[in-house]
Amino acid sequence: MAKIKTIGVLTSGGDAPGMNAALRAITRSAIYSGFNVKAIYRGYRGLITNEIVEFKTQNVSNIVQQGGTILKTARCKEFTTPEGRQQAYEVMRKQEIDALVVIGGDGSLSGARQFASEFDVPIVGLPGTIDNDLYGTDHTIGYDTALNTIMWCVDRIRDTATSHERLFIIEVMGRNAGFLALNGAIASGAEAAIIPEISTEVDQLKELIQSGFRKSKNSSIVLVAESPVTGGAMGIAERVRTEYPDMDARVTILGHLQRGGSPTAQDRILASRMGAAAIDALLEGQRNVMIGDSNDEIVYVPFSKAVRKDKQVDRSLLEILRRLSV
Ligand code: ADP
Repeated sequence: MAKIKTIGVLTSGGDAPGMNAALRAITRSAIYSGFNVKAIYRGYRGLITNEIVEFKTQNVSNIVQQGGTILKTARCKEFTTPEGRQQAYEVMRKQEIDALVVIGGDGSLSGARQFASEFDVPIVGLPGTIDNDLYGTDHTIGYDTALNTIMWCVDRIRDTATSHERLFIIEVMGRNAGFLALNGAIASGAEAAIIPEISTEVDQLKELIQSGFRKSKNSSIVLVAESPVTGGAMGIAERVRTEYPDMDARVTILGHLQRGGSPTAQDRILASRMGAAAIDALLEGQRNVMIGDSNDEIVYVPFSKAVRKDKQVDRSLLEILRRLSV
């Protein structure tokens, strides 16, 4: 393998709080270890269109606390085609970028995996997504911040909920995963979480209603994971209107509120550890792995595993939710 002199870094797909902290850690760890750093703007699109700037340590000053990503991010159709990836590779050669660090979610790491299978490019991925849906890592960068934002929002909805007899249905993000809904429900004291992982096993709405909602309480809060499988908050509200017409249901969709904001201490620390680990991985000759955290240890997860879409939620949390909502 050719010696790595210059490392390219990009953020791709959905933005997540902590991506900047990760970029800072990658840039500074790389410089510390004697590498040059080239920052690629707008994800894979910038790699194709050559939107690339050399980064020094001061380029990442004062960003550890900023949400979003200063590199911008994009969804890039061209990169899903062999011609687009060929063009990206040619730009890499022209820029003399020897290795890539990709910060992004499931889609971005699938792209990295595909690219690495076609070209001799060492790539290390960092899990940057609020959804926490990457296999092989206990946490993704941005998840903790989103969870805290959800808790903050639900606390406020609770103040009005306790003043009326209503069912509050709150939709949270998560793509096809229920981590935000389930853990957000526990953190905010909601009665239930409706999540895609168990949608085919139980009728979660029916279970909630039958569990005695309104017997002991005036109002109830339920968090619903956005997903075609759950039907989202609108789908659940529609069911309430037709199946339980005497119930007063109100919908709140938290939407992009959940993506923004300054990263929590936990996300900044995770991003810093993972950013440093990405450079260690390249120094060790690792390639085509995602950096993960497992039981508080840094681990290397092959891309093929990371994107396999079957990371499990902790089902014991469902039982805790049930117990705590009596
Ligand atoms: P996220 O990384 O947040 O999951 P996306 O799913 O939108 O976001 O993916 C980001 C980008 O990654 C896409 O716009 C595309 O350029 C690239 N990508 C995703 N999947 C693939 C794939 N299978 N092959 C090549 N590129 C992909």
